[in-house]
Amino acid sequence: MSMTEILEGPEAIVAAVARLGLGEPIAFPTETVYGLGADAMDADAVERVFALKGRPASNPLIVHVSGASMAEDLVDQWTDDANKLSEAFWPGALTLVLNKSELVPDVVTAGGSTVALRCPAHPIALGLIEAYGKPIVGPSANPSGWISPTTADHVARGFDGHDLLILDGGSCRAGIESTVLDLTSDRPTILRPGIISHLQIGRVLDQDIQIVEPPSGGIAKSPGLLGAHYQPSIPAMLKATEELNHADDGVYLIAWSLKSPENSKQSTTLPHDPVGYARGLYNALHQAELSECSTIWIERPPEFDDTHPTDNTPIWHAIRERLSRICQTSPSSNP
Ligand code: AMP
Ligand code: MG
Repeated sequence: MSMTEILEGPEAIVAAVARLGLGEPIAFPTETVYGLGADAMDADAVERVFALKGRPASNPLIVHVSGASMAEDLVDQWTDDANKLSEAFWPGALTLVLNKSELVPDVVTAGGSTVALRCPAHPIALGLIEAYGKPIVGPSANPSGWISPTTADHVARGFDGHDLLILDGGSCRAGIESTVLDLTSDRPTILRPGIISHLQIGRVLDQDIQIVEPPSGGIAKSPGLLGAHYQPSIPAMLKATEELNHADDGVYLIAWSLKSPENSKQSTTLPHDPVGYARGLYNALHQAELSECSTIWIERPPEFDDTHPTDNTPIWHAIRERLSRICQTSPSSNP
C-alpha cells in the first residue's frame, strides 16, 4: 500500500535527491510554505507535479534555485533589476518573473514566455537544491484549491494514500506564499503581495512599484490570483470583533485581538503583529478543517492607514489579499 512518508535529517535529503533523479515528486519545506518539488528541467517530472496537485496546466510553477548563478541560465537576460533584487532579498520570499531561456520546459511556464524564479531561505530547501545540483519546481504542496501547507503534517493530510516523500522542516517561518514581482512589464509590478513589500523593493530599485489589484472576474496576469485559490473545505467568513461573542458550537473562531478565546479545539488566537499572524494563519485554517465545526469565523484584521504606511502595513495588505480568497465576504470595508 502506498502512503506518505515524513523524513528529516541528512539521509532525508539523500532519499529526496534519489527520487528527484527518478522523476518522482517530493515535498520540501521553505520559509514561506511547503513546496512540491520536481526536476524543473524534466518535463515528465513536472507533469507529474501538475497531476498530483490537480493543478490546471494554465497555472505556471515557480522554479526554485540555489542562487543567482543558477537563475541566470534559466532566463533570456538576467537584468540589472534582477541582479539588485536578488542581492538584496535572496535567499528570501521574493519571486522574480523574467523572460525565460530555451532551457526551461514549456510545461513549467504553462506555455508562457516568462519564468518565475526564487531562491528559498530555508536550509533544507537550499540543501536539497544544492545536493541535486539543478533547479526544482516548487508549487505549494497541497492539492489545487486547498489551503497551502505550513507543516509536514498538513502536506501528509493533503496527499494521504499517495507514495510521497515529505522532508520535515517543522513550521514555516513566514507562513504565506512569496511576493511575486513581474520584471517584464514597463514598470516592476507585484502580481502577488507577500511579506517582502513594494516599499522594500522600491527602495532597492529606487522607483515606485505597481501592485496589481486582483481582477473581479477578468483574467489574472498571474493565474494563481484566481479567486477560489485558497478556499478551506468549510465556509469562512470575516466578522467584526463584537460579533465573535455570538458564535455557537458549530463555529471555529480565528481571532487576533482577544485574550480569550484561548487556543482550543474550537478556536485559535493569532498574534497581533502581522508577521506572527501570517505565520499562524494557514495552520489555524487547517485546525479548523480538522475540527467538528461547520463554519469558520475570522476576526476582521485591524484597519490601517494607507496614507501613512509603516513596515507592517504591506504585510497586513498581503494577509488581507489571502483573506479575500479564503472568505466569502470582503476583508475590509475600506479596501
Ligand atoms: P504557488 O506555487 O502555488 O505559490 O503559485 C505560484 C504563483 O506564481 C502563482 O500565482 C502563479 O500564477 C505565479 N507564477 C508562476 N509563474 C509565473 C509567471 N511566469 N508569470 C506570472 N506569474 C507566475
Ligand atoms: Mg499554491
